[in-house]
Amino acid sequence: MKEKLSEINRLLIENFGIPKRKRKKPNSLDILIGTILSQNTNDKNSFRAYKSLKSKIKSWEEILELKNSTLEKIIKVAGLGKQKATSIKALIKELKKSQGKISLSYLSKYENDAAIEELIKFRGVGVKTASCVLLFSLNRNICPVDTHVHRILNRVGIVKTSSPDKTFYAIKDFIPENSGHSLHTNLLRLGREFCLPKNPKCLICPIEILCNYPNKNFSKTDKKSENNFFLLDKI
Ligand code: SF4
Repeated sequence: MKEKLSEINRLLIENFGIPKRKRKKPNSLDILIGTILSQNTNDKNSFRAYKSLKSKIKSWEEILELKNSTLEKIIKVAGLGKQKATSIKALIKELKKSQGKISLSYLSKYENDAAIEELIKFRGVGVKTASCVLLFSLNRNICPVDTHVHRILNRVGIVKTSSPDKTFYAIKDFIPENSGHSLHTNLLRLGREFCLPKNPKCLICPIEILCNYPNKNFSKTDKKSENNFFLLDKI
């Protein structure tokens, strides 16, 4: 599995390049809140909601003073305002109670599995969101799995799993060294531009040679316009 993931990573880098990363590691809580906002919406809308929220408060603690309805309004553009506002408020409250401060810095002492277990205790935080915090703010070599990554890895034949979380756990010990970020980011891009849920663009897919999907679509197709705006690399 590790060899095949390494080959996929190589081919994707050859086609899309090495995804850019900020030099300075972003704050874990910023990434966690950004990822909560990104659930069930696209990266552009969640980035707008994140910016809108950051512009209204000076510190995350101020969220505790906002009414739920106000918070909902501020992050409305990301959708599911009520649910996301409740999760974000509960997270800040819980951190203050359990850590005495509003910070996720305590996570840095945990191994990957334990850090994920810690994070998924928060309301509204699942394995994908937790693994994004580890990858983007703690620089861990892991590959978060969303529906795109799950679909591609099943089609290619790397895993045979029924959910993104199961895919994440199936591959987590086989991620080639220093490749979690490029693999994750370029697989997302592949899923948005080529390996679409319906009518994948197999004729022009950069990893077609490695893919075992029995229902490949070789009809002629134009390349979709680029879609490489990734929220978590902007935070
Ligand atoms: S060959 Fe087709 S099914 Fe396989 S990864 Fe590429 S687009 Fe997806």
